[in-house]
Amino acid sequence: MKKYLFAVLITVKLLAGLASPAAFAANDVYPHYLEANSIRYESFQTRNPRLAFDVVIAYVNANVDRGFYAGILTVSEPDNPGVLVNKNFALPRNYEPDDLVYVSGYYRLRTEAADQLAKMRSDMNNAGLNVYVMSAYRTYQSQSSKYENGVMCYGRVSADRQYARPGHSEHQTGLAVDIVQRTNISSMTQARFENTREFAWLLENAYKYGFILRYPKEYTDIHGFIYEPWHWRYVGPEIATTMHDEGIAMLEEYYGRYVAPELAPIAAP
Ligand code: ZN
Repeated sequence: MKKYLFAVLITVKLLAGLASPAAFAANDVYPHYLEANSIRYESFQTRNPRLAFDVVIAYVNANVDRGFYAGILTVSEPDNPGVLVNKNFALPRNYEPDDLVYVSGYYRLRTEAADQLAKMRSDMNNAGLNVYVMSAYRTYQSQSSKYENGVMCYGRVSADRQYARPGHSEHQTGLAVDIVQRTNISSMTQARFENTREFAWLLENAYKYGFILRYPKEYTDIHGFIYEPWHWRYVGPEIATTMHDEGIAMLEEYYGRYVAPELAPIAAP
């Protein structure tokens, strides 16, 4: 009898031992691992074998695996400079920042973003470089016309790769700015911006002022837009520096690592 009980205890201990790698992974190796998402992690990893598992965890935490415009959530802190707005996270329909200021012509940004942009442009000028603003804040209504016009011209599939649907545009946050190197703007000039010294400077330095390249070339399957070298998003120097130092290319990854786990704390084992 005693022998039998001992055997049972050993078995229990072995089973606990088998279960421990997951618990260990959740708590130590992947601090952003959320038990509730474990099945989604596996599924997204299978569909994206090129991604490292810690990146998979982050993207799933940010609902990237849901698919574009599926399971849409409305952001709760639209005024937060780090706010994630994309095809899965929408701004409240009537959201309009209350601290917009003019940055160039009739283009406006929120005060903090405008100040940092001014500082950045001034440092660029000192380095013999110039950029011009070609778009900044847009209302829900102006984004709506832009998108609907795109659908009429190119069809919905193509329009969705070029324009965010209303409520899903970073331009409505007052934190996104489109910049180019010349004043005579054409789509050609826009696309060629990536070959300029200005763009190279931004890639190296924009994070110090709190700006990130929001739609990089290598991540079109994650953000769902065409590559946009002209679209820069203000997130604040703290987040931008963390992203730079840790090699985090997408705001979705940052959100999945540092914001989502705070919103849904890891369940106690
Ligand atoms: Zn833009």
